[in-house]
Amino acid sequence: MNRATKAIIYKENLVHNISQIKNLVGKDTKICIAVKADSYGHNSILTSKIAEEIGIEYLAVATIGEAFELREAGIKSKILLLSLCTPEEFEDIFKLDLIPLVFTKEYIQGLSDAADKFYKNDSKKVAVHLAVDTGMGRIGCYANEAGEQAKLINSKNHLVLKGMCTHFAVSDSLTEENQIFTKNQYDNFVLAVENVKKEGINPGICHCGSSAALLNNKEMHFDMVRPGIITYGYYPDEITQEYLYSKGVNIDLKPVLAFETKVVAIRHFEKGKTISYGRTYACPEDTDIAVLPIGYADGLLRRFSPEGKVTINGKLYPICGRICMDQCMVNIGKNNPDVKLWDKVVIFGPSQSGALMTADDYAKIGNTISYEVLTSISKRVERVVEG
Ligand SMILES: *Cc1c(COP(=O)(O)O)cnc(C)c1O
Repeated sequence: MNRATKAIIYKENLVHNISQIKNLVGKDTKICIAVKADSYGHNSILTSKIAEEIGIEYLAVATIGEAFELREAGIKSKILLLSLCTPEEFEDIFKLDLIPLVFTKEYIQGLSDAADKFYKNDSKKVAVHLAVDTGMGRIGCYANEAGEQAKLINSKNHLVLKGMCTHFAVSDSLTEENQIFTKNQYDNFVLAVENVKKEGINPGICHCGSSAALLNNKEMHFDMVRPGIITYGYYPDEITQEYLYSKGVNIDLKPVLAFETKVVAIRHFEKGKTISYGRTYACPEDTDIAVLPIGYADGLLRRFSPEGKVTINGKLYPICGRICMDQCMVNIGKNNPDVKLWDKVVIFGPSQSGALMTADDYAKIGNTISYEVLTSISKRVERVVEG
């Protein structure tokens, strides 16, 4: 395919970010990269292959379908299944050799029944990780139940506890209150691990930190960290590079994805003529408008107008009028010698792409987070590896 609208994946930046993470956590801490949601829009097959090439042992997905794609593509790494599924999917966990998170009695029993049916007299043990809810209010047992749950798991013919985990609710916030909450979650997780050990059970690989805690709470790395967004070059919410430098944490991340298109028409409009649906934009003077073949169905969301700007040959130009499903318009000014038909247009991306905006800038405009901006890039946008 040669569609102008595409997402360029800068391999060198991905490799750079992963080595930055490796340096920061040290060689004794395992890394599990979150490749859910198609690697936050970066194509999970491409990124998982690169991660595997450079020795990443664990990947994390949210759904069975995501894991299926990776296995089909020949990915051999260990894969954690972060979200729960229903009994109809349990067999796929075994077929795809996934490590599920578990915690309710019903889930453990259902999984065990399915494993008994699947493995019969085989001595195979399915590794599971016990999820602990220390304050996220999503999945996990409470710390005081962890010992019982671990016993239940290891009492099953075909299940074995190989890890424990929890997830922080506010580790990306720097307020004192939220930092204390995170510390309490961590302490509660340590307690859960102790409770499992007290039963004489090996808790396996313990992990709790996603990107934010990985960067900001070095003491909470445990045996493994689960970075997502920083792998793709963006800092989680309030944790910025400047803040980390001030704490003596040396890290430098580079956005991996450039969202690009090209100018497909340049049209002249007189002052007062309106552009796009709803006639929300009237040309403030005689001007030229470039038409771009990119719209909200590609992931350039409607809420990115009117503040959104695109980069063409090193300068920013405003998106004008509503963003349509497949197209949008930008005001390039009258007789602008800097913008020609078929020129490359960058919505956001790393510096190599020439972009003057990042997914974080778009997140601010759209009142959201870089995660959502990146995962909104849709299926019809081809991901192309550079380098
Ligand atoms: C998505 C997710 C991560 C990664 O989060 P980031 O903030 O992108 O680093 C880690 N752990 C769990 C359980 C997740 O759901």
